[in-house]
Amino acid sequence: MLSTVVFDADETLLDLRPAMTGGLLAVLNEMRRLTPAAAKVSLADLETDWAVAFAANPAIPTPELRRVALSRSVSRVGLDAHLDDLLARYFARRFALTRPFPDALPALAELAETWAVGYATNGNSRAERCGLTGRFAFEVYAHDNGLPKKPAPEFYAAVVQAAGVPAEQVVYVGDSIAHDVVGPQAAGLRGVWLNRDGRTCPPGVRPDAELSTLTDLPAVLAALADEEDLRAQSERPLV
Ligand SMILES: [Mg+2]
Repeated sequence: MLSTVVFDADETLLDLRPAMTGGLLAVLNEMRRLTPAAAKVSLADLETDWAVAFAANPAIPTPELRRVALSRSVSRVGLDAHLDDLLARYFARRFALTRPFPDALPALAELAETWAVGYATNGNSRAERCGLTGRFAFEVYAHDNGLPKKPAPEFYAAVVQAAGVPAEQVVYVGDSIAHDVVGPQAAGLRGVWLNRDGRTCPPGVRPDAELSTLTDLPAVLAALADEEDLRAQSERPLV
């Protein structure tokens, strides 16, 4: 019996890209106010600094990663002394602009009628800072109490523990094949792939379901639950 659905945050429930871009633009504006040299720094440069920092430090907490990335950016124009202030500006703007996708809140409201609904993220999108206060029965954040990031098996074990039901009752929903489908399936959960932009599923990966919008999720989960109930019935010994 499936009972629990758990959501990834960034790019699944939360439209993070406008928020990150807005945060970086706030940083860039302040850098340009502080020094004329920053006129030659572009938004693309700041995004590159993030990509380089992430590639070098994939497992460190997201706020630290942002600090590493931004330290690269400020050192381009000798603004190292302003790193803390610029980092604060980035996060203030990033959280102020972080919003659920339009399909997220209606789906959450409908699912909450029949499912236990959880939230589990690698990032620092705390639900209460992102327009999702009070939406979840439980929340799991990587790095809280040293919890490793997805796709570490310990992360999914913590999700199952927070759900308070066996792993086979839990469906994980998210946009990342590695983090939200393959990782959960390896840990005994179901993995549903939210493929908003029509990507091709890598060979050898079989999501339990694939959908392009959360609007379809209640029906997709109901179908999975029905399948599971039928399978359980067919395995019941005949007497
Ligand atoms: Mg995601």
